[in-house]
Amino acid sequence: MPPIYNKPTADKYDYVVIGGGSGGSGTSRRAASYGKKVAIIEVTNKPGGTCVNVGCVPKKIMWHAADLREKMMLHAPGYKFQDIPSTPKFDWGSFKVQRDAYIKRLNGIYHSNWDKDGVELHQGWGKLTSANSVEVTLPDGKTKYTLNADNICIATGGYPTIPSEEDIPGANLGITSDGFFELEEQPRRVAVVGAGYIAVELAGVFNALGTETHMIIRGETVLRTFDPTLQQTLTPWMEKTGIKIHKTSKVTKVEGAKGQPLKVITDSGETIEVDCLLWAIGRHAATKGMGLEEVGVKLDQQGNVVVDEYQNSSVSGVTAIGDVQGKALLTPVAIAAGRRLSNRLFGPEKFKDDKLSYDNIPTVVFSHPPIGTVGLTEPEARKKYGDDAIKIYKSSFRALYFSMVDEEHKEPSVYKVICVGPEERVVGIHIIGMGSDEAMQGFGVAVKMGAKKQDLDDTVAIHPVSAEELVTLR
Ligand code: FAD
Ligand code: NDP
Repeated sequence: MPPIYNKPTADKYDYVVIGGGSGGSGTSRRAASYGKKVAIIEVTNKPGGTCVNVGCVPKKIMWHAADLREKMMLHAPGYKFQDIPSTPKFDWGSFKVQRDAYIKRLNGIYHSNWDKDGVELHQGWGKLTSANSVEVTLPDGKTKYTLNADNICIATGGYPTIPSEEDIPGANLGITSDGFFELEEQPRRVAVVGAGYIAVELAGVFNALGTETHMIIRGETVLRTFDPTLQQTLTPWMEKTGIKIHKTSKVTKVEGAKGQPLKVITDSGETIEVDCLLWAIGRHAATKGMGLEEVGVKLDQQGNVVVDEYQNSSVSGVTAIGDVQGKALLTPVAIAAGRRLSNRLFGPEKFKDDKLSYDNIPTVVFSHPPIGTVGLTEPEARKKYGDDAIKIYKSSFRALYFSMVDEEHKEPSVYKVICVGPEERVVGIHIIGMGSDEAMQGFGVAVKMGAKKQDLDDTVAIHPVSAEELVTLR
């Protein structure tokens, strides 16, 4: 087991990073690769942060489990597999044990990679005490010491938001995505509040695994910030697959007791009885109690660290990356911003202006079916360039896979490309349907490179895959 440090090993470090998640790991390892003296301060004993412990990784594993059950239950009979139980039982409890063991291994891999690269892990709470010093409080809550550094990076991520008891009495009876990963048993009935990434993904997992699933959403559709085509395709499909979506509804009260059935009461006058209530209404930056404002680090109204395009905060020598700066809350964004920051601070001359471009970041929602998206939505493109400059190409189809599947279980696929100007530069691609998650990365490259519709047309299709639709749109 690599060492965990509990005192400084130098009077001064080149780089101290607070937070050992995606961003903290990326930036500290890159800095160490330039021979710098680097420390990470991480408050938990679980290196890797949100993505590894309560985010992307365990979520995707659960998505695979859910996907597998759908395939066995709804699709395999069409392929004439015999003796498949009509409702395959999922052993949530033992799967959780196996999933947790895998995550624990990843925690170990993170720690040993830091060690191999020469990054010290200080396990404790990091608090900024000046522009050049961070106080570490060890898990005993008493032992404190200071790490001095020329450069300090805040990479503390964020936490799920839960409404206050004043706003919604009984709100604390609910869990968040963090609690989702602690569930030892599969709830029989669940209500998920929210309509964003996490609500859609976790409601989808519950539903596909056989939990009676309710979503309580403020609007008419899920994923309201996504392209309307995606919202309008996914929302009815989620309903068709059994999720009861309570639209234009807000929770006003929750009654019951922890571990007991709950009554979720909405402003539409409904009372929804469930065994688990899950809040998925957004996340907030982990900036409280870190001494940031005391040292002069500016926060915005939501508590995110305000940074410039180079990740500099308002205090010279203090930077911030990842979720804590409130923009594009995605693992690869935190990693890329962190690596580029270290390139700029510690790398060779050619990197002296290195920074991450936050334009055209591709992203995927692990819904059922999945969504891939990059660039502007149609309303954004119309607003930016005017209606006359926009040309939309769109195709709705069924993936070949579903040709053998019962009509009612044939998932929709809709692909949309948004082009601008006479040269038809592609400014947005929005796709939903089986395989969209895997197809998106390459098309993300194309958009980033400034692809035009003609470039898509000039690319020979790969057959038979769904993604070929994107190069044959007319
Ligand atoms: P984090 O990974 O949150 O790391 C911050 C670290 O700082 C934590 O380990 C925390 O313990 C530590 N810390 C906090 N305060 C202190 C302190 N004062 N002192 C010391 N340590 C401290 N993104 C994707 O790209 N794809 C996905 O599929 C995806 N799925 C997700 C699913 C869920 C359920 C959630 C919640 C998020 C998901 N995300 C996904 C988002 C992704 O997890 C985050 O964008 C990413 O983890 C942000 O990295 P970060 O380094 O900024 O912060
Ligand atoms: P999002 O910002 O994606 O969604 C929050 C949702 O909550 C919104 O859709 C909003 O819906 C709803 N909402 C906000 N406030 C309230 C309220 N008071 N009552 C009811 N509903 C409310 O946040 P998430 O928590 O889902 O995820 C956080 C971030 O993590 C994401 O933005 C994403 O960057 C990242 N993530 C990425 C994933 C991936 O890459 N696959 C997966 C999971 C998370 P509306 O406005 O329509 O009412």
